[in-house]
Amino acid sequence: MSEKTMQAAVLNRPLDIEVKQVPIPVPKADEVLLKVHCIGICGSDVHYYEHGRIGRYVVEAPIILGHELSGVIVEVGSDVSHVAVGDRVAVEPGVTCGRCDYCKSGRYNLCPDVVFMATPPVDGAWAEYVTIRSDFVFKLPEAMSFEEGALIEPFSVGIHAMNRGRVTPADRVLVTGLGPIGLLAVQAAKMYGVSEIYATDVVPFRRELALKMGVTAVFDPSSEDVKQKLAEATAGHGADVLVETSGNGRAISDAITTVRRGGRVVLVGMPAKDDLPVNINHLIDSELDVFGLFRYANTYPAAVQALSGGKLDVEQVITHRFALEDIKEAVEMARTQKDTSIKIMIYPDKQDVAKG
Ligand SMILES: [Zn+2]
Ligand SMILES: [Zn+2]
Repeated sequence: MSEKTMQAAVLNRPLDIEVKQVPIPVPKADEVLLKVHCIGICGSDVHYYEHGRIGRYVVEAPIILGHELSGVIVEVGSDVSHVAVGDRVAVEPGVTCGRCDYCKSGRYNLCPDVVFMATPPVDGAWAEYVTIRSDFVFKLPEAMSFEEGALIEPFSVGIHAMNRGRVTPADRVLVTGLGPIGLLAVQAAKMYGVSEIYATDVVPFRRELALKMGVTAVFDPSSEDVKQKLAEATAGHGADVLVETSGNGRAISDAITTVRRGGRVVLVGMPAKDDLPVNINHLIDSELDVFGLFRYANTYPAAVQALSGGKLDVEQVITHRFALEDIKEAVEMARTQKDTSIKIMIYPDKQDVAKG
């Protein structure tokens, strides 16, 4: 019997991506087979596409990218009971060991044995079908779109940033950088009951989108004194929590001096250089809490609940839609048009592109 095949976007080497027929994966006893509905393009996908590596992760063999997805279950393994064929689900793309100290203590994002989609050598989901362990799919309520389901992955980073920064409704939050993660961190701040959310970005289009998505006020860090503007906007209070998503070296250094005395800084965006100047005396004297962040943990159930409440708006981050067969055009847009594209969504079935 010949293997069944599907379309998948395979990255052969940097800048060389092709859509070709590959075998449809077969679910193991504890896995499900998913028909992918839509998959976002992430900054990490673009980075692998362009440079073939992120830090210690190197593309050494052809790989399928993509890890922000939702779809419909079409087959379940023999041990799977809590989900069934026909369920619409979001996928959490990192399967952890479940046994190490980090997994046992709930910080499973730090599991050393995690198998994460689209992190070499693990294949991702820019394909018609994908398999995943059944405890990493989350059912979507009927009213929730597949797009919202796929966006739970980057939204989770925003939620984790709120958890790391111990954000409460009493806080004023400043988000620096308004790419997909920054804009979704804004939605996460709303989810956590924050009523004053400020944001910065050098790109006017992104600042305008942030205002449409519920930010109180936006500032341009290239022409405005953000700390002073914040003080004016908050009657001298300033930002209790600063979430840095741009990865810009200057923005990271400035985060320490911009946040309020006694404030909290969550660093999300990774800078190109390891070493950056930081005013340590200011950090100590102001008694700041500074938090790192790696992916997320235990965010999907909360995200599904929050998004079904109808008060959050994540879909506006989607600026473009492409069929899987046009993946080359889509990743090139993500790579070269960062000022006008935010989240680009890919659809294996090209008829879904127009429906959105
Ligand atoms: Zn991502
Ligand atoms: Zn583990």
